[in-house]
Amino acid sequence: MIGFSMTEEQIELVELVRSLLREEIYPTVLKTDQKNDEIFDWSYIRVLARHNLIAPLIPKEYGGRGLDFVTTSLIIEEIAAVCAGLAACMVGTLHGLLPIILAGSEDQKRRFLPLFVEREASLASFALTEPKGGSDIERLETTAQLRDGCYYIQGIKDYVINGAVSNFVTVCANGGKNRRAACQFFVVPREQVKVNKNRKTLGIRYANTAQLHFQNACVSNNNLVGDIDGAYLLLNHTLDLGRPLIGAIEVGIARAAYELVLAYAQEREQFGRPIFSNQGVSFPLVRMATSIDAARLMVWRACSLIDQEGDYTKASSMAKLFASEAGQSVTARAIDIMGAFGYTEESLLNVYFRDAKVCSIVGGTDNVQQMIIASLL
Ligand SMILES: Cc1cc2nc3c(=O)[nH]c(=O)nc-3n(C[C@H](O)[C@H](O)[C@H](O)COP(=O)(O)OP(=O)(O)OC[C@H]3O[C@@H](n4cnc5c(N)ncnc54)[C@H](O)[C@@H]3O)c2cc1C
Repeated sequence: MIGFSMTEEQIELVELVRSLLREEIYPTVLKTDQKNDEIFDWSYIRVLARHNLIAPLIPKEYGGRGLDFVTTSLIIEEIAAVCAGLAACMVGTLHGLLPIILAGSEDQKRRFLPLFVEREASLASFALTEPKGGSDIERLETTAQLRDGCYYIQGIKDYVINGAVSNFVTVCANGGKNRRAACQFFVVPREQVKVNKNRKTLGIRYANTAQLHFQNACVSNNNLVGDIDGAYLLLNHTLDLGRPLIGAIEVGIARAAYELVLAYAQEREQFGRPIFSNQGVSFPLVRMATSIDAARLMVWRACSLIDQEGDYTKASSMAKLFASEAGQSVTARAIDIMGAFGYTEESLLNVYFRDAKVCSIVGGTDNVQQMIIASLL
C-alpha cells in the first residue's frame, strides 16, 4: 500500500513542533549562527527535551515516544527548516543510540535510553570517523583491547557531532588486532573522553562538532554493544538507518530557503511588477518546489521501508544522495533569486546555503552513496 498522507497523530505532532520552533527558536537562529559560539547553548535542546523530542525513536517501554522512522523524519524536517544545527544534534544523538536500540542488552537499554527521555536536556554522539579518513569504514585505527574485564580504547575520532557535550559517546573501535572490518561498538562515558578541539564548521553551527581523544579509556565490558560477529553488520545497519534522517535535514533546509525566497519573489518589484511574474524567476521556483517534493518522497519511501522491515539500503542511500543534491541546488538558486541581500550575513539564505553543504559529507559522502547504490543495481 502506498500512502502520501499524514495521520491525525502525525499532523498534530508536526504542528506542535512547528509552533514550538517558530516561537522559541526561530527568533534567535540568525544570531546564533553569527555568534558561532564555542560554548554550547543548551536552550534549543531544552525546548525539545520538554516535549520528549530529543530521540523520539526510543521505544515507549524505555520512556520514549516510540515513533517510527516516517514520523521521526517529519519532525526532523520541521526542526531543520528552522535550525539545521539543532536537527543535526538530534540525528547525531540518534546515531549514538541506534546501536543500543538495535543490539544492546536489556541492561544497556535500561541504563542508557532513559537518559534522553527524562525531560532533561542530554545528547549522545556517534564516533566513527578518524583523522585518516571517514569513507573507508573497514580500516579503523582506534583499538579496543580487553584486559582484566575492561576494554581499553585508544585512538582519535574526528568531526563528532555533540562530541564535546554528549552524555556518552558510542565509539566504533577495532577489537580485532587491526583486522579489517573488525569493529565493535562501545558506550564510553563522558568522563573517559578527552576533547582535543572543537571544529569550526561552515554550517550547522549550532551543533557542537569535536575531535575526541580516547587515551586508554577504560570501559567496562558491560558497555560493549552487540557481539563481534555481528558488529560490522550493526555498523552498516546504523548508517543505513541514519541516512534518510540526514536526507530529512536537507529537505527541511531546502524548504526553508524555498519558502523564504518564494515570498520575497512575490513581493519584490522590478520594472514595475513583482519579480515572480517573470518566468526567469518563477520557473526556477517551480524546479525548486519539484525537487523538494521528490526528495521528501524519497525520504518517506526509505523510512517506510525501514518501518516495514523491507530492504531499505539502496532507498536510504538514494534518498540521502538526492536530497543532498536538491538541497544544495535549491539554496544556491534561492540566493540567485534574492539577489545581493541573499549573499549577506544578515540573510538566512546565507545560513541555509552553508547548512545545505553538510549533507553531501556527513553519513558518507555522495560518492560513498553512489558506491553503495552501484553495488545494488
Ligand atoms: C559537520 C560534520 C559532522 C560530522 N559528524 C560526524 C559524526 O557525528 N560522527 C562521525 O563518525 N563522523 C562525522 N562526520 C564525518 C563524516 O562522516 C566524514 O567526513 C565522511 O564520511 C567523509 O570522510 P572524510 O572527510 O575523511 O573524507 P575521505 O574519506 O578522506 O574522502 C575524501 C573524498 O574522497 C572521496 N572518496 C574516498 N574514497 C573514494 C572512493 N573509493 N571512490 C570515490 N571517491 C572516494 C570522498 O567521496 C570524498 O569526496 C562529520 C562530518 C562533518 C563535516
